[in-house]
Amino acid sequence: MMNPFQDFQDLGLCPEILQSIESSGFLTPTTIQRISIPEIFKGEDLLVEAQTGSGKTACFAWPLLQALQISQSNESKGIAKIKVLVLTPTRELAYQVSGAFYRFGEFFETKKTVLTVIGGESIAQQSQSLQNGVDVVVATPGRLLDLLEKKVLDLSEIEFLVLDEADKILDLGFAAELEILLGQISPKRQNLFFSATYPEKVLEIVKKISSSARILKIENATPSVEAIEQRVIQVNRENRGMLLRHMIKESGWKNALIFVGSKVAAHNLTEKLKKVGINVETIHGDLSQSQRNTALSQFKERKCDFLVATDVTARGIDFKKLSMVINFDLPRSPADYIHRIGRTARAGETGVAVSFIGLEDLAHFQLIEKRAEINLFREEIAGFELNGDIPLIKLGAPPVKGKRKSKKDKLRELTKTQN
Ligand code: AMP
Repeated sequence: MMNPFQDFQDLGLCPEILQSIESSGFLTPTTIQRISIPEIFKGEDLLVEAQTGSGKTACFAWPLLQALQISQSNESKGIAKIKVLVLTPTRELAYQVSGAFYRFGEFFETKKTVLTVIGGESIAQQSQSLQNGVDVVVATPGRLLDLLEKKVLDLSEIEFLVLDEADKILDLGFAAELEILLGQISPKRQNLFFSATYPEKVLEIVKKISSSARILKIENATPSVEAIEQRVIQVNRENRGMLLRHMIKESGWKNALIFVGSKVAAHNLTEKLKKVGINVETIHGDLSQSQRNTALSQFKERKCDFLVATDVTARGIDFKKLSMVINFDLPRSPADYIHRIGRTARAGETGVAVSFIGLEDLAHFQLIEKRAEINLFREEIAGFELNGDIPLIKLGAPPVKGKRKSKKDKLRELTKTQN
């Protein structure tokens, strides 16, 4: 009789991992798993470019858990000498990745400890957990730095460094944090970079971190048009709210993740939708972590029909059977368009991605199409047709991304002057 797990066994995965694969209900490795796992076992530095939702977490979690089983457990109390560090750009993704490590590691006799190190949660508790001994840390860069300053963890024995959604971590927003972190991590480590998109400038930074990283590009790295039905609806900015309500009522739009461009926009749109009785939650950076967690789980558990979100959920978050993604506001970068629409149609499912574009967005959307190598039909909905003249572009210096001090930078400076 044919062994349904033969393909997984051929990847060199151990019985405990195979058991967790079976209990997850996976039948066959995804393309990215088939290609990257044997390379990871060889110990090479890799830069993997693969479609969103293609099972990339398992690509690093399986081999690294297996490697950890062979190496000595971290019993050093007082200061945590961790072996595996996974960096993610958002707190929600950090939680998701930690969860995957736990799930995939559940059949090992000696359990490995995984700690999520993120802002918005108690730093004292995270310090305490580190002092009790931790094997894997999944972190957002800011909080990790805070803990390094407290000298409760030691990165000098890191064997594996994973950058999940690597392009987002390596872009200017995290550059300063990353430079300090890399200075403290053992240079004798295996570097693994994962993302669906790698803008040119990011590839240059990757080369500085690892000159030997081999590029594994999986075909169809951008979400396929067949899996995601991409729609573009032209509508004047001021009519988008009305159009959304109309489509919810008349076309039965439901189970949709609605992306907006700012925290204020997220709050305002949510309130407007709630006022007309729509079952909606919101997630953005001005909410407490527990509010963020609740909103995300309510939406995932289908306790609300819509989630209005900023880009905190654009990267890596796994929404199972999500019907729609709506770009109420367009994303700033073409890469973010790919990541946002990739929240639907995960792991072989299908979905719809709708973008509202107004007069101000026409040129920007053309750029997104060019970069994503797509060419989409423009629709209009009766009663909401686009009208007016294309506004003239105001000339002036564009805002410099990454130069503005973040709340965290300011806080850090303040704490330094107080100490
Ligand atoms: P990821 O890209 O890691 O966020 O994974 C996307 C989804 O694919 C998650 O729900 C995983 O549990 C699922 N997944 C990962 N590997 C497989 C596999 N071999 N077969 C089916 N689903 C998978």
